[in-house]
Amino acid sequence: MLSTINAVQFFSNKFHNGIFVVVHRLYLIIILTCLHSIADAQALLPADTANEAYCAAVSKTYVADNKLFNELLKEQAENKKISKYYTSSYETIFEVLNDRIKKGHILYIPAICNTLEKILQEIRSKNESVPADIKILLTRETQPNAYTFGDNYIFVNLGLFYHMENEAQVASVISHEIGHILLRHALKSMVMSYESNKVYAADVKLLKSTEIHAATRALEILKNAAYNNGKVSRERELEADSIGYLLYKNTGYPDYEYLAALHIVEKYENVKPDSLAMEAYKRFFDLPEQKFNDSWLKQEDFSSYNYNTYKPALDKDSASSHPKCAERIQHLQTIYPQLKENGKSIAATSTFTELKNLARSRHLPNLFFNEDYGEYIYTLLVRLQADPDNKQYRDLLGKGFYKIYEARKAYLLNRYVERVKPHEQTKSYMQFLSFIWNLKIEEMEKIAEHYSKT
Ligand SMILES: [Zn+2]
Repeated sequence: MLSTINAVQFFSNKFHNGIFVVVHRLYLIIILTCLHSIADAQALLPADTANEAYCAAVSKTYVADNKLFNELLKEQAENKKISKYYTSSYETIFEVLNDRIKKGHILYIPAICNTLEKILQEIRSKNESVPADIKILLTRETQPNAYTFGDNYIFVNLGLFYHMENEAQVASVISHEIGHILLRHALKSMVMSYESNKVYAADVKLLKSTEIHAATRALEILKNAAYNNGKVSRERELEADSIGYLLYKNTGYPDYEYLAALHIVEKYENVKPDSLAMEAYKRFFDLPEQKFNDSWLKQEDFSSYNYNTYKPALDKDSASSHPKCAERIQHLQTIYPQLKENGKSIAATSTFTELKNLARSRHLPNLFFNEDYGEYIYTLLVRLQADPDNKQYRDLLGKGFYKIYEARKAYLLNRYVERVKPHEQTKSYMQFLSFIWNLKIEEMEKIAEHYSKT
């Protein structure tokens, strides 16, 4: 692995004047994801014509930038054959991403987009290795996550603002992504993919369709391609952490928040932050037209999974014992012994709290837009648990149940509602998923009807 200091000097030389110079042998493709998670919200968005216009405009710029990027790649490639592979791989990536942009998966929320731009400019002003042409787009995804395909576009999920506690933590995630760009990890994954003869591009093309979900699945394939080698992708995470930390520190952000952000990311990667009490099921699903059935709550026996092994990861307050997080923090502290975890997070400023509220208000609409109906219903139930008579939530619950009723009828429920994964989900979420999967089609329909008319 590259020593971080050398790597930064290396990239300062190669990327001086902010021009993205592709050096040496061209490595290319694929993705880097970082974080994940969950939460709640307020209302469904009405048809958003302003956002549609924004997406159309971004799409134009995006396509033009992609063209420039690929031309640059071609010019600088040494080997024609691999150059062609890179270019066509990138074309696939760009097509999938542009499809999502056109379908409205990105958002323009002025206060949040301006903050992202401000953070990026601050990082750039203190780190000349950062390319001048990096652009950030805000996505509707709800996990505290960001990703880049190495073409200088960074996609930041709105979920990042929902989960992070202050601006410095958001900056740490952006710094990490810039680290991936500087280290050209996407190109390296492409080389691996080329060498192992994995033509995932063909898989992506199969998914072309006009439905929103196809675009999401195509993105998943691209993201998964980055993990074609678990060990390598882990090492790249560690490298991006190291470079990212230097960028972050040079910018003057407080040390501790870099680690705090890592904790949050890991904590909410798979574990839902809210929990639904057992009583809620009877409370919301014992209906006049359909008596509650205890067998709905039945769960599979997961004892063979050695549940205790995974327990620490599922305990909200012990995210630091999550092996991935622990490894990343330990790695950072080995390189930078001054990095300590004993700080206390900076309280969110009122400005940042406003951004969090904006993210919160979009959370439910985004889950619905993204067709994450399982999580959508779960989130609504958690909301209703605290506010049982909320007319709007009850109405939305009906809508959610109609969606999964239709999915079940079409044998497509697994596309919209996760399966139980005992080592990745909280007990509360596993119980919820078991409940949904236990429901019969007609039972789902009854629930949908009930909530649609209350
Ligand atoms: Zn990463």
